[in-house]
Amino acid sequence: MDMKADPNQFSSYDPSYDPLVSSGPGRGMDYAPTYWAATAGTPPPDDGPIAGDVDVDVAIIGGGYTGLTSAIFLAQEHGIKATVLEANRVSWGCSSRNGGQAQNASGRLSRSQWIARWGVDTALKMHAEIGDGFETFKNLIRSGNIDCDPQTGGHLYIAHRAAAMKKLEAEAKVLADVFNYKTEMMDADAVRRRYVNEAEAAGAMHEPDGIGVHPLKLAYGYLKMARAAGAAVHPSSPVIGWETRNGIHYLKTPGGTVRARAVGIATGAYTAPGLHPSLKNRYFPVLSNSIVTAPMTAQQIEACNFITREVITDTRTLRFYYRKLPDNRVQIGSRSAITGRDASNPRHLQVLIDGLHRKFPALKGIPIDYSWWGWVDVSHDMMPRIFQPDPQQTVYYALGYGGNGVMYSAQAGRRLAQLIAGKGGGLDLPIFTSALPGEIFAPFRRIGQRMLYHWYYMRDEHL
Ligand SMILES: Cc1cc2nc3c(=O)[nH]c(=O)nc-3n(C[C@H](O)[C@H](O)[C@H](O)COP(=O)(O)OP(=O)(O)OC[C@H]3O[C@@H](n4cnc5c(N)ncnc54)[C@H](O)[C@@H]3O)c2cc1C
Repeated sequence: MDMKADPNQFSSYDPSYDPLVSSGPGRGMDYAPTYWAATAGTPPPDDGPIAGDVDVDVAIIGGGYTGLTSAIFLAQEHGIKATVLEANRVSWGCSSRNGGQAQNASGRLSRSQWIARWGVDTALKMHAEIGDGFETFKNLIRSGNIDCDPQTGGHLYIAHRAAAMKKLEAEAKVLADVFNYKTEMMDADAVRRRYVNEAEAAGAMHEPDGIGVHPLKLAYGYLKMARAAGAAVHPSSPVIGWETRNGIHYLKTPGGTVRARAVGIATGAYTAPGLHPSLKNRYFPVLSNSIVTAPMTAQQIEACNFITREVITDTRTLRFYYRKLPDNRVQIGSRSAITGRDASNPRHLQVLIDGLHRKFPALKGIPIDYSWWGWVDVSHDMMPRIFQPDPQQTVYYALGYGGNGVMYSAQAGRRLAQLIAGKGGGLDLPIFTSALPGEIFAPFRRIGQRMLYHWYYMRDEHL
């Protein structure tokens, strides 16, 4: 079956969706009202919803970057034609809502935090894995001819106040001395002259790796590649029940049951708490907000000296991520509400607008053309896992990128495919050899998160 995605077949987007309290991932929901959905063009064909019972070798649950890339690599590197089950539209979750910043990272920890946690040898191996991941990501875009508006040149990491420069300088030294990864430190004047007149900037670190992409064009490219390689991709097919009997997984979807010999879970922060026992209380969905302004005028660009098109983040724990898009709009994102119910409260939008104005006073009054939010999959130890939780069961998962998944999800998809194909023997990093850590206080996480946000705010702005 080769169905074209027909917008009329989808139900409307639910802005208050909250993975921890909603009864499931939804079914056939339309994309969030992102700038990306408005500008990605016509979606490529997919295989339509599951219609009837089917037997498959491998089912992948979740049709975001991770699910689609694991299907690509299963086909290309292991000769396995997977069946991808997506609850809503293809890449409806984070993969159609993110800031499009492909960074030299995965998870939320810095290189020096890796050393503190694992020691130098493992940190060096992890660095190599991330570097290899960047190559995987770039190769996919190249080999799939994915036209996703790449903005190359690197990543500008801006110190949002003077106190943050010391930390940046220390990290730059670790990057150079331990990892042989050369970055450039610069003072505020150099940032303003050479990159952008960002009013908060007290200096910056420039790293050579970093690419901005159009997130949904990237996802559409992956979708095309997965299908061209022989995978089937079924939107509007949420897995709403799961039984395992005699080694066969019975995945219930509204249109029929998918009987699979192996299952890859790639549901990110949108994983329903009851999907599989191995994931109970092992990830924490956190909301991130994003806006896109109207195109800047020539005067505004000049006033901001907005020369760079590279991806930018600042040093806040609840960081801002931003860049100038190809059509001279500014995209900027940061923290949002704690719950889905509160997500549309205008005060969260105001946090972004205030941040934009603080950084670029010349943009006061610029119209905000797009505003949306999405759930980021944060793990309890801030690092992802690509893992088989029970050696007796053919179930595997890949999630927990913590807001750094645009690049690494391609490599995670490749690693997930390796595990599913039984070729994961050489993967000896902690992110492949241990489960996502559980959290006994999980039911109270949101109370803790509220307190943490206050503490981060105090530390970022005042201490
Ligand atoms: C606002 C925002 C900004 C971000 N910015 C950046 C950035 O600039 N750089 C960066 O590196 N990362 C960023 N991220 C994170 C990045 O987008 C994610 O790490 C990445 O997209 C994860 O991809 P994924 O395929 O694992 O998950 P997702 O794209 O979330 O896909 C999971 C899919 O699983 C589906 N699903 C869930 N349950 C079921 C079920 N039972 N049955 C079938 N399907 C199911 C969902 O519908 C969803 O489409 C951002 C995230 C957000 C929300």
